Amino acid sequence: AAQRHTRSAGVQSFITVDDDQVRRSAADIDERIRAGDGSSLGPLAGVVMGIKDTLCTQGLRTTAGSRMLENYTPPYDATSVGRLRKADMLLAGKCNCDAFAMGSTTEASDYHVTRNPWDQNRVPGGSSGGSAAAVAAGQCIATLGSDTGGSIRQPASFCGVVGIKPTYGRVSRYGLIAYASSLDCVGPLARCVEDAAAVLNVISGHDKADATSSTQDIPDFTQGLEPRESLQSRPLQGVRIGVVQQMMGEGVAEGVTAAVDRACRHLESLGAELLEVVVPSLELGTPAYYVLATSEASSNLARYDGIRYGLSSAGEKQELKALYRNTRGTGLNAEVKRRILMGTHALSAGFIDAYYKRAQQVRTLIRQGFHDALQQVDVLIGPAAPTPAFELGTVINDPLTMYKNDVLTVGLNLAGLPAVAVPCGFDDKTASNPLPVCVQIMGRAFDEARLIKVAHVFE
Ligand code: GLN
Repeated sequence: AAQRHTRSAGVQSFITVDDDQVRRSAADIDERIRAGDGSSLGPLAGVVMGIKDTLCTQGLRTTAGSRMLENYTPPYDATSVGRLRKADMLLAGKCNCDAFAMGSTTEASDYHVTRNPWDQNRVPGGSSGGSAAAVAAGQCIATLGSDTGGSIRQPASFCGVVGIKPTYGRVSRYGLIAYASSLDCVGPLARCVEDAAAVLNVISGHDKADATSSTQDIPDFTQGLEPRESLQSRPLQGVRIGVVQQMMGEGVAEGVTAAVDRACRHLESLGAELLEVVVPSLELGTPAYYVLATSEASSNLARYDGIRYGLSSAGEKQELKALYRNTRGTGLNAEVKRRILMGTHALSAGFIDAYYKRAQQVRTLIRQGFHDALQQVDVLIGPAAPTPAFELGTVINDPLTMYKNDVLTVGLNLAGLPAVAVPCGFDDKTASNPLPVCVQIMGRAFDEARLIKVAHVFE
């Protein structure tokens, strides 16, 4: 009976669904085709998409998964969303996520739990769990997520879908509700590499509204993604792939390592040369990430003061400080508060040198470490997450275990480098039912096209 109840409760990928908008946009597309104007349709015409609720959508409620923004309807679109609209996507709604993208399970959403479509007693990962689950459950062709420390790649792995974390600056952050601005990236999730690449084509590119967005040329990321049957027999001939040793050993579930080992053999059979590499300082990533991400968050989230926008207790008669306290006390959940406290502590006068400054030094070492490793090889490979999907309720009350799960993804954010998570098989050891596993193909700055080509051989 419990199982039936679980099943009927459904995956619940969305916080807000907008049927009307889908119907209107679809009717508009129909009309343009009927009027003989079909050739003016954008590259994503008719493609049903969901958008993580950390991205602003004009006229459509945007909560970032938090009660603080329960009634917030942005007057503007995030640049990435605006570009998708221009490309004629059908916007189905806003996908569930951990509040302010802080979490790894989507259980820290203030709205509801999202279930993993492969096993509804498990989490979809996070923080872009709704975006990954919506694709895995076949509710959307593609979705957007955001990745500050792994939030596209880890849920992609837990739900067995493709996720791309672009190079920092490749996609505009304008209209992305900030978590940690020096790490935040917007990227696509989709069923297959080609679909994810098609979305990346649309959302990439310079935006004068985001001073950190890049002016680099944008290649056609879908180019060279021939259907499998027309691939030459050794499409990876001459490609040097480094297997990151620190990502394959201790702390990684046996079933995950086995799936990634099989993936490596597959790459070899297609002509790639596999080498063992070490990324110096990589293991320092998690502590450095949690100091830097929470420091930036403590500053970014200061804007939720009950005055400018979002929840406000201003109706009550109270001192200014009480207004802040009451608004933030009720609007922010325990995980968000924990992070604001950690970040405020790390930045405070007596501790900034010991924590924030040291973490910045570690960040430089990690960036250098990736640079050195990527001198020896063209791309790096490792698992996208150390475990398959956890059972609901298992790590949410154990923050340290949850934070440690980010060990394989945060390094790339600290270095600003791109990575593609692509399903490579199943872990058949952790649970009684096989659970999906993604490999993570990582590379040099702005080298997404190469990563996409390598990822494509897993389709
Ligand atoms: N799990 C990581 C965190 O909780 C990453 C989140 C993210 O990338 N938004 O911070």
